[in-house]
Amino acid sequence: AIPSNLQRHQAALEIRGVQKRFKHFTALNHIDLELRKGELLCFLGPSGCGKTTLLRLIAGLDQIDQGQIFKNGEDISYLKTEKRRCGIVFQNYALFPNLSIAENIAYGLIGKRWSKSLRQSRVAELLALVGLTGSEQKYPLQLSGGQQQRVALARAIAPEPDILLLDEPLSALDARVRLHLRQEIRSLQQRLHMPTILVTHDQEEALTMADRIVVMNHGVIEQVGTPEDIYHHPKTRFVANFIGQMNFLPAKVLSGTELLVAGHLRLSLRQSVDLPVNTEVEIGFRPEAASLVHSNAVEQQTIILSVHLTAKEFLGAQTRLTVAIRGQQTGGTRPTEYLIQIDTTHHHAGRLSDLVHISLDETQLHVFDQAGKTLC
Ligand code: ATP
Repeated sequence: AIPSNLQRHQAALEIRGVQKRFKHFTALNHIDLELRKGELLCFLGPSGCGKTTLLRLIAGLDQIDQGQIFKNGEDISYLKTEKRRCGIVFQNYALFPNLSIAENIAYGLIGKRWSKSLRQSRVAELLALVGLTGSEQKYPLQLSGGQQQRVALARAIAPEPDILLLDEPLSALDARVRLHLRQEIRSLQQRLHMPTILVTHDQEEALTMADRIVVMNHGVIEQVGTPEDIYHHPKTRFVANFIGQMNFLPAKVLSGTELLVAGHLRLSLRQSVDLPVNTEVEIGFRPEAASLVHSNAVEQQTIILSVHLTAKEFLGAQTRLTVAIRGQQTGGTRPTEYLIQIDTTHHHAGRLSDLVHISLDETQLHVFDQAGKTLC
């Protein structure tokens, strides 16, 4: 095993057992995390889960209550913000309106023993980097939102920080600018090989930009993984539900490898679950894990559900169908209906209220226990 002090030198940032309370409210509970060199890590989670708080602790804008933060192996837990060498970009640009673009970018270079000529060439270099050459003498309000955010990025990068911290930098921008800037930030970050943390509540932003995603909920980390890993192998029901779409159906354990779904459908599992008979669980599958089956092919399929079509939405390349499965509530005998969504490229899937057959790809089924932990 590598000694932990050596491992520390391998990570751009290492967070160990960090805790943060606001009076009696625990905003962050025992956070362990690593930002690798050159990687873009996204903090993703619903409003109030603690993303911004964690970013502020890393930047030194707030103090941790417990734990340690290391940057390139050095303990920076109690270092002042100015000494942490973190470049920060906030959602609302935070440019100085009375300073020119050049002065805004040069702001972080003052007092760092950058000579005037060095400062000027650094500003020019950064303006070129963010595609704003020629805007030196303009003022922030003369620029669009997207351009202002590019200036904020240039200002953050100017003093050559060790780490870049971006707090929802794109969320104030309109959709088209956001998409464009997403790619620009990502390619800039990769070119500079700059370890970066991006806070977002936008899952698409996280999935498209991140090397790894940290999914947070109520002050704890639910899962850390690559976008593919998080999407295909969610460790909890929360992650499965928060990232992408997932259908859930109640189920009961019949044996280690068999479930009773929605009160009447027997389902064999590829992997066994280690739970007593009759334990209540839930199955989950994504819309693309189900497909329509032609009625004469029904017998060849392993998992077949007969369902009623209740809604159709044309999405261009695909059509999203909402179908109703008749079932029984677990523990009760009253009939109920479960709505699930499936995606198909078969646009003429049937008329509303038709009985259709769908098959489930058993390799894409997830089973969750009552605490929301993924069993398989
Ligand atoms: P959002 O996406 O809405 O910004 P977030 O995940 O960034 O959410 P935080 O801003 O980190 O969430 O807040 C986490 C929790 O801590 C929230 O419940 C918030 O109300 C609380 N909190 C944050 N800062 C303070 C503070 N200074 N005093 C008291 N409570 C705070």
